[in-house]
Amino acid sequence: MGDFPVFRNYIDGSFVEGSSTFESINPSTGETWAIMPAAGAADTARAVEAANRAFLSREWAGLTPTARGKLLYRLADLLAENAQDLAEIETIDTGKIIRETKGQVGYTADYVRYFAGLADKIEGSHLPIDKEELEVYLRREPIGVVAAIVPWNSQLFLAAVKFGPALAAGCTIVLKASEDAPGPLLKFAELVDEAGFPPGVFNVITGFGEECGQVLTSHPDVARIAFTGGPGTARQIVQNSAENLAYTTLELGGKSPVIVFDDVNLDSMINGVVAGIFGAAGQSCVAGSRLLVQRRVKDELIGRLKAKAEDILIGDPSDPATEYGPLATKAQIDKVERVVESSIAAGAILITGGARPEGYQGKQYYLPTILDCSNVKDADSVTEELFGPVLSVLTFDTEDEAIAMANSTNFGLAGGVFTNNLARAHRMIRAVRSGIIWVNTYRVVSPIAPFGGFGESGLGREGGMESVLDYTRAKTVWINTSDAPIPDPFKMR
Ligand code: NAD
Repeated sequence: MGDFPVFRNYIDGSFVEGSSTFESINPSTGETWAIMPAAGAADTARAVEAANRAFLSREWAGLTPTARGKLLYRLADLLAENAQDLAEIETIDTGKIIRETKGQVGYTADYVRYFAGLADKIEGSHLPIDKEELEVYLRREPIGVVAAIVPWNSQLFLAAVKFGPALAAGCTIVLKASEDAPGPLLKFAELVDEAGFPPGVFNVITGFGEECGQVLTSHPDVARIAFTGGPGTARQIVQNSAENLAYTTLELGGKSPVIVFDDVNLDSMINGVVAGIFGAAGQSCVAGSRLLVQRRVKDELIGRLKAKAEDILIGDPSDPATEYGPLATKAQIDKVERVVESSIAAGAILITGGARPEGYQGKQYYLPTILDCSNVKDADSVTEELFGPVLSVLTFDTEDEAIAMANSTNFGLAGGVFTNNLARAHRMIRAVRSGIIWVNTYRVVSPIAPFGGFGESGLGREGGMESVLDYTRAKTVWINTSDAPIPDPFKMR
């Protein structure tokens, strides 16, 4: 164990061991690269209790909103300054290519700056009440201790859309990194420490779902849960929160449709489809994993996508030239293999991929894969979220058919529509059931724009001012401005 970097949890302003340790695997080599601390039940409870003490402390509760914003600005600067280090750790721990991790740390800093700027713009309101002599107003107060739980992909970013609004609003937080790749967030804890938050305001831990996650989401001191991950875990978390009745938001998976009409110029849109499914090797919640294409352009589009998919440069994710890396976990690649096999057995036609690339045996690489599922609309690859590089193609003739196919899932995170017909674009915007819809583009985000899903894709939105207010609770204040005595309640006037 001696030669590996050893990470620690960050609780109450100190770096501490977990109750046990576990090894983290580098997916591009299949070998251990670091030792991680697993927070047990007692460690997790200690982190929540520290966050609760900090929430009530003068050091934090007594800070002005502007001062809270300054701490967040400081953290954003540290993130930007340390982007290279953080990106390298994320690439080693998750296999995500360095180009993407570096870019993502950079815009994560922009997200934190956006939330920093909102800290002193959380306003209450004056209510024009229907009673004389009474002044009534609404205060916005921080909700309390936040339990934030993120998956292994894009974790600094997914953490920032939780701790940014939470701290801007005056909450305190316990952030749980995924046990699958906790390196980037545990390293980030060093920046939290350097930024100078009072002890206990911002705790960063990792551990296993059934122990650490369970204690975190059912603890009586937790008032707010912000979760990103899979729908199965979300259901467990909602059950856990029956204990503390914490207000919960959920950002879950998707099976997002990309709908291509035959009026488009394929040259200008094709990269939108490619980025939507093969970016991050398909390990993105908004992956455009179902391609719905109008019959007249189907063969040409599939041919071009095949050529593009086969041209993607696979390699070492730490090499800046690499365009495509491994899948993050063995469980991921096993699932992708199983679903591609069962879909082909059910009648899907393999256009390209469908295997591990040559020369990468024992590693977690899987080729960019396209399946023509036009004749098997219920193939597993069409219905299951794979979180992998598999594009399932379906064909439609009419707009109504496209809408029915797009909405034939319980998920509803994102959707893409490619058309040059403005009226049709607007009809599709209205008809597709998803929290985000991109027209003639795909997979773009901004801190200013809310992000989240319908149905099994989740509850609540992250990003925008609305998400900051979602970490506050309203207090209604009633003030009697009359000098007259309060009337006797038993003598009606
Ligand atoms: P996951 O649900 O298995 O794990 C996510 C987190 O939940 C981990 O930190 C895990 O330790 C924790 N957890 C597990 N069991 C728990 C329990 N009982 N109580 C509390 N916490 C528990 O997800 P994953 O496999 O790591 O990530 C992939 C999923 O995340 C996909 O479904 C993907 O679509 C989704 N995702 C969604 C978004 C979005 O913004 N909508 C973004 C990225 C990923």
